[in-house]
Amino acid sequence: MADNRIIIAIDGFSSSGKSSMAKQLAKTIGYAYVDSGAMYRAVTLYAMRKGISTPDSLDEKALIDELSNIAISFRVDDATGRSRTVLNGEDVEDLIRTIEVSNQVSPVSAVAEVRRDLVKKQQAFGVEKGIVMDGRDIGTTVFPAAEMKVFVDASPEVRAKRRHLELQQKGQDVAYEDVYKNVCERDHIDSTRQESPLRKADDAYVLDNDNMTIEEQNQWLLDLYNKIVSSKA
Ligand code: C5P
Repeated sequence: MADNRIIIAIDGFSSSGKSSMAKQLAKTIGYAYVDSGAMYRAVTLYAMRKGISTPDSLDEKALIDELSNIAISFRVDDATGRSRTVLNGEDVEDLIRTIEVSNQVSPVSAVAEVRRDLVKKQQAFGVEKGIVMDGRDIGTTVFPAAEMKVFVDASPEVRAKRRHLELQQKGQDVAYEDVYKNVCERDHIDSTRQESPLRKADDAYVLDNDNMTIEEQNQWLLDLYNKIVSSKA
């Protein structure tokens, strides 16, 4: 029933597997899925192309000035049924997943104005509820009143291994050490920044998935959803 629809916020560290889980849950229960990290990645790609963000520097003022020129949306790929990120009309889904973007995204997402702009857009996606959104601050800042909040955790080694495998499967030849370094750096910047740092919401359920299969995680999430929805009915 439409009035039973809730907001589901899934937060956690880089490469904790939260996106795959969130996507699967949204598909199973017929909810929309929004990958908030993809939005920060799209802003980063835009800044890199303009020379505003480089491996060693970020021109914050220039980035803030450009924010009104950045339009981000999502489209569903008819063939795969998967959501793809669109930046100013261009499909950038594959471009935003490279290690170069991963290496520059955390400083970009630490800029307060960037966060305010994207948080507003993310909140607009949730006005009708029936949404699963994953990120770093969804349960704390974007949807603090979300009915279901999950915080996903796993050790940096396990997360780096997963991300390394994923990049290899996409044909990107990156050393494991570089992926591990990136995961640790992003953990540090994401959890120590001033503006809405990554932290577990007080009322979030914690999922430590170090030793869980993907099927077990999906089931854990679905069971929690059913429990929350039935307690609301
Ligand atoms: O989820 P993903 O790893 O793709 O996110 C990329 C980066 O975007 C994170 O490392 C973080 O710096 C930033 N991010 C954020 N807040 C969110 C989602 C992502 O700061 N809600």
